[in-house]
Amino acid sequence: MTVEKNKNSDCFKVAVRCRPLSNIEIQDGRDSVVSVNSQRGEILIKPNNDPAERLIIFTFDEVLGPDTQQDTVYQSIAYPIVESALEGYNGTIFAYGQTGTGKTHTIQGKNDPICERGIIPRSFEHIFRSIKGTSNTQFLVYASFIEIYNEEIRDLLSNNSKHLQLREKPETGVFVKDLTSFLVQNEQELNNKFMQGIQNRIVGQTKMSSCSSRSHSIFSVTIEKCEVLNGESHVKVGKLNLVDLAGSERQSKTQATGSRLKEAVHINLSLSTLGNVISSLVDPKATYIPYRDSKLTRILQDSLGGNTKTAMIANIGPADYNCDETISTLRYAHRAKSI
Ligand code: ADP
Ligand code: MG
Repeated sequence: MTVEKNKNSDCFKVAVRCRPLSNIEIQDGRDSVVSVNSQRGEILIKPNNDPAERLIIFTFDEVLGPDTQQDTVYQSIAYPIVESALEGYNGTIFAYGQTGTGKTHTIQGKNDPICERGIIPRSFEHIFRSIKGTSNTQFLVYASFIEIYNEEIRDLLSNNSKHLQLREKPETGVFVKDLTSFLVQNEQELNNKFMQGIQNRIVGQTKMSSCSSRSHSIFSVTIEKCEVLNGESHVKVGKLNLVDLAGSERQSKTQATGSRLKEAVHINLSLSTLGNVISSLVDPKATYIPYRDSKLTRILQDSLGGNTKTAMIANIGPADYNCDETISTLRYAHRAKSI
């Protein structure tokens, strides 16, 4: 197997986004232990807010502080990846972090007010605005949406709740067998598919008495571009994957039993495999990339490494009681960044 690597850091970006203290945290008199220096790309942690404690400093490609607007997140992280998907390159954006730190806010956001929309609805607008502006080029846009829970794959755009299997063919690589993929004509249709999937996700989770923080969701938009140049048609296909990962918080080993323990084992496996895959991709000395160790990385194999663009947004909360989880998120994200 040949190992393809990202040739420059443009292809792989790690950003940290720190949300503001929530109203409840403010009411409870929680202190913020996180400060950011966006210019220098630094996150500073002062454990337990004790002036005598040493300051821990992490550096990242991009650091987005509590005041960062959704539009800024889109422009700095998502915009270039969506642009290159429109040019026929695969791209992936991950939201990583402990439950409650803003992964869904970052990836999905709220539709009302409109400025609170996250990366997914903004990317839909971006894609169709860009398509409208072109002549002599034809675009076909397809949507699919899956959830991975306990290493089982479910199609969120199908009424069939059976688990889907992964298959591999030499000519196409890894794919999800029987996954539905919808041709969409405009931004509204794409939004409708997304909302339908979100609704199915909630219904499925109620049945399994699980919750979104225990599963990964991947919304994929495939853009086929057919351009006619000098009488010849050229087809390019780019895929954009928008991934809301399961919560990264460590499960208390003594308390998790039965199905909770099973969930914890699967989440740990897939998040640690993702970390291993990314760090092998950015490590020039790595000879092997462990895509096969989890469903998540196998599914995304053709969108990670090689000629692709990837961003990981590590979400953190500023409050003192989350300090350990925050440091663990920053360590994870930093490992993905270091070369
Ligand atoms: P997660 O998906 O990581 O569990 P959520 O996205 O659901 O976290 O965020 C938890 C809560 O914090 C939500 O009420 C959300 O609206 C709020 N929140 C998250 N990030 C921000 C932010 N940057 N600014 C304001 N509120 C935020
Ligand atoms: Mg969430």
